[in-house]
Amino acid sequence: MAEYSVPEIYGSLVFNDKIMKERLPKDVYKAVHKCATTGTHLELDVANTVAAVMKNWALEHGATHFTHWFQPMTGLTAEKHDSFIDPQPNGTVLMNFSGKELIKGEPDASSFPSGGLRATFEARGYTAWDPSSPAFIKDGTLYIPTAFCSYGGEALDKKTPLLRSMTALSDSAVRILNLLGNKAVKHVDTTVGSEQEYFLIDKDMYLKRKDLVMTGRTLIGAPAPKGQEMEDHYFGVLKPKVSEFMHELDKELWKLGVPAKTKHNEVAPSQHELAPVFETANVAVDHNQLTMEMMKKVADKLGYACLLHEKPFEGVNGSGKHNNWSIVTDTGENLLDPGKTPAENIQFLVFLIATISAVDEYADVLRCSVATAGNDHRLGANEAPPAVISIFVGDELAKVLKSIDEGTAFVSEGKTEMGIAKVLPHILKDTTDRNRTSPFAFTGNKFEFRMPGSSLSVADPNIVLNTAVAEMLDRMYAELKDVAPDKLDEEVKSVLKKYLDAHKKILFNGNGYTDEWIAEAEKRGLYNLKSLPEAMPRLIADKNVELFTKHGVFTKEELSSRYEIFLENYDKTIHIESLTMQEMVRKDFTSGLVSYMKDVTNEALKKKQLFPDLQVAYESDIIKTLDASEGKIDEELTKLSEDTKKAEEIIDVLEAAKYYHDVVLEDMSVLRSSVDASEAIIPDQYLPYPTYGQMLFSLR
Ligand code: ADP
Ligand code: MG
Repeated sequence: MAEYSVPEIYGSLVFNDKIMKERLPKDVYKAVHKCATTGTHLELDVANTVAAVMKNWALEHGATHFTHWFQPMTGLTAEKHDSFIDPQPNGTVLMNFSGKELIKGEPDASSFPSGGLRATFEARGYTAWDPSSPAFIKDGTLYIPTAFCSYGGEALDKKTPLLRSMTALSDSAVRILNLLGNKAVKHVDTTVGSEQEYFLIDKDMYLKRKDLVMTGRTLIGAPAPKGQEMEDHYFGVLKPKVSEFMHELDKELWKLGVPAKTKHNEVAPSQHELAPVFETANVAVDHNQLTMEMMKKVADKLGYACLLHEKPFEGVNGSGKHNNWSIVTDTGENLLDPGKTPAENIQFLVFLIATISAVDEYADVLRCSVATAGNDHRLGANEAPPAVISIFVGDELAKVLKSIDEGTAFVSEGKTEMGIAKVLPHILKDTTDRNRTSPFAFTGNKFEFRMPGSSLSVADPNIVLNTAVAEMLDRMYAELKDVAPDKLDEEVKSVLKKYLDAHKKILFNGNGYTDEWIAEAEKRGLYNLKSLPEAMPRLIADKNVELFTKHGVFTKEELSSRYEIFLENYDKTIHIESLTMQEMVRKDFTSGLVSYMKDVTNEALKKKQLFPDLQVAYESDIIKTLDASEGKIDEELTKLSEDTKKAEEIIDVLEAAKYYHDVVLEDMSVLRSSVDASEAIIPDQYLPYPTYGQMLFSLR
């Protein structure tokens, strides 16, 4: 039983629409609302009023500071806190906050990744208020969501391009909707609901593992006797400690206005999921960042550690973040909802086929948007979606699409032919028919992109989706705009058929985990970009540069900077993993190995002294096995260390990434098998760190 009222605490720390309506003068409220929904500029006097009201509200809630909260290219969030104090000559202070401080900040940008964008003399960056995402209070500070740019206006963050992509999609969608006769729509938003997977383990155990602390994943560790094979964890009864965590997390998130909705156990032991109610994309992205942060914080407070890495443990499932995505009009229509009338059906089919075409044509860059060193362990590893992107639409919709392709659809008379009007409403019933192996699935009234990794900012895939769909809508619009009204219906149908024909190769309703599919995908000419170094060159391929520049989402320079940053991040991640593994094997593992061998040797000697005739075969076997593997481990460790040094020498980020992938990761995997084989023989108490069995079943 909750000891609080949910409606009372929900959003209690948020400067939300209700508070603004209550406290702002009517015209100021209107101006902010307009600015938030259409992205127009806010005049300074209006900003001053908002700032004063916001400050008073924040002070009432115990805030002493404010911060421009932004999302640099680290994929994390950043903040610098300024207090409201304004010291007076008489020794007292006033608490001040101006409109200028609300709208714009000037953090030093020089220590954030810029991928060469700051190569110029200008180190300053600026943050600009995003009024479409509400401010909130956390730990006594007023948080103002902001975009982060260089002084020259280049995006240094994930929010700026996301907002640009939402505008691009809105413009394109409105244009084609108006052309199709839906004239009331002036604006559309993308909606996002991101299901977040995570692991929860005991904090003391976590702190004893250098690999988890430094890299977020275990680099060595023999499998536990039990993994996920019993299928007893998924949706299983919540253990009291886990339940306590989930309750506490919900409460903290609700105070911040994050609509945490569903929670359950996931497939792997110690793995869980939280799904929110969907929101406008940029708010959803902000809220997912907050969710990840609160997960770590609440876990820490309760004596647990929350692991958000894509692959914290070998041998059991990794964690992802399903990105549910749709488009909603300002008149409240979900454009990916099949609707009930033939006219709605046509509109739905336009957006459906535009999305299918977009995902096919831009599958390579969509793949790039979810590429990280961590996610490489997941994609294609027989658990999460494969690295090949395909789309699942369900049987019913597949039939409809087939009939469009064959030109038999839209004929609503006659018994044998498949009239769209008759068929489409059935799709609503089809929402439970899920293909869990598909990377990109239509789930009734939205698409679910299952490739993002659990630690990723969902800004990245949504930037690509929004922009690519905008592009396809524009292309369709260009083909339709000069068609005479009485021919429009006919022409829309032939355009849909044409796009479907060109892009149907991306549709696949079967099992995405099989080798047959990978072979078939290759035959169809689909991309299979297995790792980050393989994928990343596609980010700056001509067709993709053209896409982003045309829609004003990235300049060519911004895109190259992201290419640099993603690769650099990959190189650094594996470099750190290699060093951590070397240290852990050399110090922690070896100390366990040596002390166990010493004890077994002493035991054997003692026995021999007392009973000279004994063979001590058991002890000898253990010592021989461990001694042999000690030598092997030493050699493998030396190779890893030397190869890592070679990697450090490579200047080009892509070359380095390939080397890290092909050589260093391979060395690590070879070393890991030897270490794990020995670890399986050594009793737990000899190891200065907890084993898989201890960690994965640590919470009661
Ligand atoms: P699953 O079976 O994959 O767990 P659910 O039906 O529980 O899926 O929903 C998953 C997510 O999809 C939730 O976060 C939900 O809010 C989100 N969602 C539902 N409708 C939309 C929509 N129109 N746009 C974006 N996300 C949506
Ligand atoms: Mg899902």
